[in-house]
Amino acid sequence: MAAMRLSRLLFVTLREDPADAEVRSHALMARAGFLQKLAAGIYVYGPMMWRVLRRIEHIVRDEHDKAGCLEMLMPALQPRELWDTSGRWDRYVNDGILFHFKDRRGSEVCLGPTHEEVMTTYVQRQVQSYKQLPVILYQIQTKFRDEIRPRFGLMRGREFIMKDAYSFDTSAEAMVESYQRMREVYRSIFSRCGLRFTPVQADSGAIGGSGSEEFMVDADTGEDAIAVCRATSYAANLEKAVSRIPAPAQPAEELPMHKEPTPHARSCEDLLALFPELPITRMLKTVLYAVVYADGSEGVVAVMCRGDREINEVKLSNHLQALQLELASEEQVKAATGAEVGFAGPIGLASHVRLLADQSVEGVKGFLCGGNETGTHYLDVYFGRDLEQPETVDFGTVQAGDQVMDGEGEIEITRGIEVGHIFQLGTKYSEAMDATFSDENQKTKPIWMGCYGIGVSRVAASAIEQNHDEHGMIWPLPIAPFAVHLVQMKAGNAEQDALSLEIHDKLEAAGVDVLWDDRKKVSPGAKFKDADLVGIPLRIVVGRDAASRGVEWSLRAQAGEKEAISADEAMQRAIQMAQEAGR
Ligand code: ATP
Ligand code: MG
Repeated sequence: MAAMRLSRLLFVTLREDPADAEVRSHALMARAGFLQKLAAGIYVYGPMMWRVLRRIEHIVRDEHDKAGCLEMLMPALQPRELWDTSGRWDRYVNDGILFHFKDRRGSEVCLGPTHEEVMTTYVQRQVQSYKQLPVILYQIQTKFRDEIRPRFGLMRGREFIMKDAYSFDTSAEAMVESYQRMREVYRSIFSRCGLRFTPVQADSGAIGGSGSEEFMVDADTGEDAIAVCRATSYAANLEKAVSRIPAPAQPAEELPMHKEPTPHARSCEDLLALFPELPITRMLKTVLYAVVYADGSEGVVAVMCRGDREINEVKLSNHLQALQLELASEEQVKAATGAEVGFAGPIGLASHVRLLADQSVEGVKGFLCGGNETGTHYLDVYFGRDLEQPETVDFGTVQAGDQVMDGEGEIEITRGIEVGHIFQLGTKYSEAMDATFSDENQKTKPIWMGCYGIGVSRVAASAIEQNHDEHGMIWPLPIAPFAVHLVQMKAGNAEQDALSLEIHDKLEAAGVDVLWDDRKKVSPGAKFKDADLVGIPLRIVVGRDAASRGVEWSLRAQAGEKEAISADEAMQRAIQMAQEAGR
């Protein structure tokens, strides 16, 4: 990409963070004019931002093309019928994520939040024979999602740029091979972007299918919590993570069940104060949920869980195949338990309530649980003796300090930003949409699919979330808007003008894109401040020593370390570093 003069760049900075900026990447990009907000979750990408996005797209394209994937482009407008065929229209409308409307003929259409339906239709029409497979198709395109909480700038937009790829194979084994290939493509892409990241096991969510992994950029401000074990390299999204939990405390003696008044004790904390002798691992809580099932029917589910553990609503929702899951309302709790919120238990629930338990209740003896009567709890309760143990499933949330499931090691909880997500879809879409091929024996079979997404605009935001300081952004060299920031201290000074122009032209001729701060009537201090904010990784300052071809060299990431070197040495370094970064 071409070099440029800052004076021609429509460069305007804001002194203050925008009021709605909750994370640094958003605040800094807005202040530097990379972004301009049009409405919640809808942004204009300014010229600098667009250069970054094109850099990322270039890396994404290059790695996909090297792996033999084929680029194409699908429409953003999608007819409802496709989504009815795959069975996803209701779920997406119910979630509220889908932008949809009627056209002038009264047909319903949506703005694509993802493209499984369109792509499967394309392949259904295009592929007949096993000889055409395998194939991996991809596009880089704008996606639309009416997010509940659009925020963090480009991190969670309502309109954003995604690369989505889809693989098509003749068997489950071949699908796994394509998946592994794409896994490597993803590793290469995020490494080349200069990001520190962790691939983690993931929940498949509304997309569906079997195996799935997310690529998380390591960042304390990330929206996703991740369970990691350094000893075994286990890493999973908390939505999906499993662990071995500490064993419960055992009672000294077996006592008969009895109901006790616990007037104001609604939480385990309250109960611990009331029964200081009773360990929290012998308290079982019962949480009530209102569920809308996939077929549209509704119900109330009570889920038991050990006092020191938390219920994982993603696991629960998956198990119930729920369209929607939320905590039951006060009225629903009353109808189910006959009591106010805080006293629900497994004994004597209304018959319409389905009782389930997290596996953390297994082996718990002589426990406390809610009395289903306001102000009471049962104590010394035993499964088998006082009530049947409900069906137990893993509905638990992994906690720091748990033991990893396979092998020996402790789990830590860290945070990350999901920049990529890969799925083995199986034949879910191909069966629903009749995408088949005929095999060697002319037998018709459904195509095996995988899908692979990268949030291109989110990658840019996460790069800054990971790389910034109090003065501004610090772009990784491979995706920076420019490789070199050429700061001319005094525009109009003849020696400085001449040397700056020479550096600008020579670097441009060598294919290194340089941003030349040639602004007149802007003080050196203000120029350095802007350079720090914009965060271009390599810096050459042309100042006092211009007459003797001397410049100052520094890296944005190591602001303190400035070196006085010759202009030729600086150019040489810049060219070499830009090349090494693949620019
Ligand atoms: P999230 O859990 O963050 O809502 P998702 O799991 O719904 O994301 P996918 O359907 O897996 O997202 O989309 C593929 C990629 O697109 C994600 O890994 C992410 O990088 C990006 N992405 C998803 N939603 C957004 C958004 N609202 N704004 C920007 N990027 C997004
Ligand atoms: Mg995802």
